[in-house]
Amino acid sequence: MAGVRGALGEALDVLASLVFPAPCRICEQTLLTASRIPICVACLDSFAPLAGPACQKCGRPFVSAVAMATAQPLCHLCRREVYRFDLARSFAAYNDAMVRAIVLLKYHEVTPLGAWFAARLAEMVARDPQAFAADVVVPVPLHATRLRERGYNQAELIARPLAKRLGLPLRTVLLVRTKPRPSKLKLTRKERWQTVRGAYAMRGDTKIDKLRVLLVDDVFTTGATLDACAQVLRKAGASRVVGLTVARVAPEWLAVPAEAVAEPAGHE
Ligand SMILES: [Zn+2]
Ligand SMILES: [Zn+2]
Repeated sequence: MAGVRGALGEALDVLASLVFPAPCRICEQTLLTASRIPICVACLDSFAPLAGPACQKCGRPFVSAVAMATAQPLCHLCRREVYRFDLARSFAAYNDAMVRAIVLLKYHEVTPLGAWFAARLAEMVARDPQAFAADVVVPVPLHATRLRERGYNQAELIARPLAKRLGLPLRTVLLVRTKPRPSKLKLTRKERWQTVRGAYAMRGDTKIDKLRVLLVDDVFTTGATLDACAQVLRKAGASRVVGLTVARVAPEWLAVPAEAVAEPAGHE
């Protein structure tokens, strides 16, 4: 049935694009080809996949010259063992096109875009199956109040199709966010760490002995959110926690003094 529905869906997409030419939701050019993703090929191509030298643990991109000169496999944070996840990787840099794509996921529930990003993350998993081996896929949860306001969790728009592609169970009710995010829109680096400290818990003290968890979120900003979730999952018995996010804020953003600039919004 899925095949029939898929073919029918595609036919309807083609029909819809002929009858109602839609603009790309990022650059507003008219979409020339029928697609489930309301984003043009040029915009999809303008995402910048992170493929260069990076910290072996948290995936923080290195400036090539520096990385080559020092030959350090870990960034300064991971050398200090700041993060409690085992590994984190992101699909692409948080550039202008990506900022707009994340807005579409977060505030406009563009489900096909979540599926497209899930496909990119699945490709990353396929390239290194051992590093990303997992038993369950868990989206970073929203606080109940926020979830009610928005009606959906954008991390789940990515995690659900990813779990399906990987043939893994999706566990959306394992983790809960117990502490709401402050209403202030932009948070400094320091505030990010403070607001997520103790902000997550296992629902009903669930134990997940020896499970390997693939933790999914939209944006890696400081890594504080993935770290806070990983701490809780580990305490509940998880044997490994690997974070996968669609986008990653460039280290330049984080190199400036915390008070000097507000960072782009991360998972909220
Ligand atoms: Zn476009
Ligand atoms: Zn690192």
